[in-house]
Amino acid sequence: MKLSHKEILYKSTRSSQTATASQAILKGLADDGGLFVPTEIPVLEKSIEELAKMSYQEVAYEVMHLFFTDFTEEELKTCIARAYDSKFDTEEIAPLVKADGTYYLELFHGATIAFKDMALSILPHLMTVSAKKNNVKNEIVILTATSGDTGKAAMAGFADVPGTKIIVFYPKGGVSPVQEKQMVTQKGENTFVVGIYGNFDQAQSGVKEIFGNKELAQELAEKGFQFSSANSINIGRLIPQVVYYIYAYVKMVEKNEIKNGEKINVVVPTGNFGNILAAFYAKNMGLPVAKLICASNENKVLYDFFSTGTYDKNREFMITNSPSMDILISSNLERLIYRIAGNSDKKNKELMEALVSDGKYSITEEMKKELADFYGNYATEAETASLIKSLYEKTGYVLDTHTAVAARVYQKYKEQTGDKTPAVIASTASPFKFTRSVMNAIDTNCNDMDDFALVDKLADISNRKVPRAIDEIRNAPVRHNTVCQAEEMESVIKKFLGITK
Ligand SMILES: *Cc1c(COP(=O)(O)O)cnc(C)c1O
Repeated sequence: MKLSHKEILYKSTRSSQTATASQAILKGLADDGGLFVPTEIPVLEKSIEELAKMSYQEVAYEVMHLFFTDFTEEELKTCIARAYDSKFDTEEIAPLVKADGTYYLELFHGATIAFKDMALSILPHLMTVSAKKNNVKNEIVILTATSGDTGKAAMAGFADVPGTKIIVFYPKGGVSPVQEKQMVTQKGENTFVVGIYGNFDQAQSGVKEIFGNKELAQELAEKGFQFSSANSINIGRLIPQVVYYIYAYVKMVEKNEIKNGEKINVVVPTGNFGNILAAFYAKNMGLPVAKLICASNENKVLYDFFSTGTYDKNREFMITNSPSMDILISSNLERLIYRIAGNSDKKNKELMEALVSDGKYSITEEMKKELADFYGNYATEAETASLIKSLYEKTGYVLDTHTAVAARVYQKYKEQTGDKTPAVIASTASPFKFTRSVMNAIDTNCNDMDDFALVDKLADISNRKVPRAIDEIRNAPVRHNTVCQAEEMESVIKKFLGITK
């Protein structure tokens, strides 16, 4: 094994527990409930000129080998090659598109046409290599509760990956028709999809309970299985997201839009705080980033946090047209809190416990000063819809609802600050994934058209091909039809795994 670099370990945000990269990927969460953070953020070794000659896959290796230091070069390159292949509909993997003076980094060219594919296409491979490294002989069973996007992206990533099975629970009737169709038509001998009579919280709590059930874990181990999680707090998801910010910067230099070394702003439509945290890590690796602009929808808990220093989830949950950002507990924020608390697991733990007991916590003035890199704001539903329409009318470019939240927040930022620094907006979903909301924003006359007629109309007006992910589900047979009560989740899992009949 060749380990030419300084080893990076992963430490819990709530105790002194540490793990290697592969152990942290296998575990997901630390035993104390904390998140794993790298003990140090490595500095980029290659210059922008060198990176400019590289493919996406090569840039991915340059970033990931600095973080995943217990993987060999061959292991990591194999994972990368298997992840970023023809599942993506463009060789660029993450193309940069200019519209109205701003760059959109399109992160939706993977199997499920949302940015979750960027990390979930590599996580299964990182996980199976990690299992091998740590002598795990059990088959890994991924359990996921989803409100729509994560479940499908995780299944697409894990489908037919040897040594793994994946079981996804979604709230029956609580996801969009396209999202449900995408899930129940999922191929792969090792994929299982179950609708729950209940809401997302019940599915989520059920999964958490099963993870915490030691007897069940024992019973599974005897049959050769162990559970793992694919959710966004896994460092195996976070680090692959650092790659595309570096790639985007390099492309902007290449296109002569910025000079090498010139700073850019990065705008990210935010929910669980994973994507924007990856941009923050890229900045800490040495990428010339000025502001990190955190965009929320009407669930503006992060905007309030950045403006007041108090994180308060005690508020009404808003259902919006950017559902993947309908979140009141942004799990990955904990990694930032730990850092601005001077890497103190003790202080961070106090705040996270207050979040559980009181639903809120406040940071000190000193900690608040450490947030100078960030700017937060939010967009209302009406503002988001009107942005989609106006950008389309001006340029012909159609945004999805999540990206539109970011674009509107970026306008507010410019109005408030006059800052003319070039900006990249993370474009997190294809407009086709949220066709109805997008078409309603552009043309209020299409309300009574059916879902696939709307898809064709969107293709027509946006001059884009209907993505494979949508075409595939038009006539795809339903492969999964299990529906159960939340209380039955455990027995359903055992049945799938062949432990009981
Ligand atoms: C998950 C998701 C987001 C939010 O990303 P976080 O990393 O959770 O902040 C934004 N847009 C889309 C389309 C998503 O699927």
